[in-house]
Amino acid sequence: MKKALILGAGGFIGSHMVKRLKKEGYWVRGVDLKYPEFGKTEADEFVIGDLRNPLVVKEVILAPNQNELGKGSFDEVYQFAADMGGAGYVFTGDNDANIMHNSAMINLNVAEWAVKYKIKLLFYSSSACIYPKYNQMDPNNPKLSEDSAYPAAPDSEYGWEKLFSERLYLTFLKNLGLNIRISRFHNIFGPEGTWEGGKEKAPAALCRKVIEAQDGDFIDVWGDGKQTRSFLYIDECLEAVLRLMDSDFIGPVNIGSEEMISINNLVRMIIGISGKNLKIKNIKGPEGVRGRNSDNKLYREKIGWEVSQPLKVGIEKTYQWIEEQVKSRKN
Ligand code: NAD
Repeated sequence: MKKALILGAGGFIGSHMVKRLKKEGYWVRGVDLKYPEFGKTEADEFVIGDLRNPLVVKEVILAPNQNELGKGSFDEVYQFAADMGGAGYVFTGDNDANIMHNSAMINLNVAEWAVKYKIKLLFYSSSACIYPKYNQMDPNNPKLSEDSAYPAAPDSEYGWEKLFSERLYLTFLKNLGLNIRISRFHNIFGPEGTWEGGKEKAPAALCRKVIEAQDGDFIDVWGDGKQTRSFLYIDECLEAVLRLMDSDFIGPVNIGSEEMISINNLVRMIIGISGKNLKIKNIKGPEGVRGRNSDNKLYREKIGWEVSQPLKVGIEKTYQWIEEQVKSRKN
């Protein structure tokens, strides 16, 4: 039986990955500061621990029954833990010191102990936020091919930390033989993601606003609404990660959708799903770059797989799930 360690297993992508790997027959240990928010974890073992602490990382990376020389080590380690949130958390500047310090500490510890305890394969989740701002000024023609990352000019400290950690893991591969796979996620969304409180991302925040609105209301949308993005449904993300892990391609490689949509059109899509009569009001707020869309050419070439569903299918499922959350909160 394969053994996997999932760091950040209490978070959105990590908790979904636990479920997916359990379905695939793995033995799974999850680690996080907190348990998953929506439903019990399916991990065989769940450790509450702070990965900024090297002693915690040392302890959790050692697999059950592993000897200190590496025999019996984890087959796969998934590093999802990070101090992150949506635009309201990442782009205001108020959380930059925490974002930089907390996530860098986690990655420094993980890289060190992954080598010392000879884990067989490590996945690192980087982000589309590493891409330079200067290639994302035109909402209709953003450039996000992997080789466009340099000269680096991310538009947030969150992006800089991700770029630093990509490079950290790549040096551990080059000098110390750490076997890694790196992907740059582009806006992953779906049920059981944060949907209120300030750390939620655009699809969840917009679904919530529409669900809470009454006929005739205006939906507040940050910026002029012409900024473009693409969004990838969680199940597709997990499939893409597992296929990357099964390949011998190291990355960094984009994992995202190429179905680009303006934020106002995303709101229109959600309003359409709701069946309500609502209008859009564009207001001042953190909005990030003007245009962003995944470029999947490299992934297609190296892994040979495509996203299978249109955005609307995932948005419908997410809308339904958030609607249930809103209803149960009111009861
Ligand atoms: P998330 O915030 O839901 O999950 C991250 C988890 O890390 C949280 O549960 C948090 O408690 C945990 N964590 C933070 N600090 C920790 C610490 N010191 N010790 C232990 N655990 C700690 O985020 P997510 O959406 O599941 O994202 C997972 C990874 O993918 C992150 O690294 C994120 O930067 C990256 N990513 C996500 C997206 C996306 O759209 N969701 C896009 C690009 C990159």
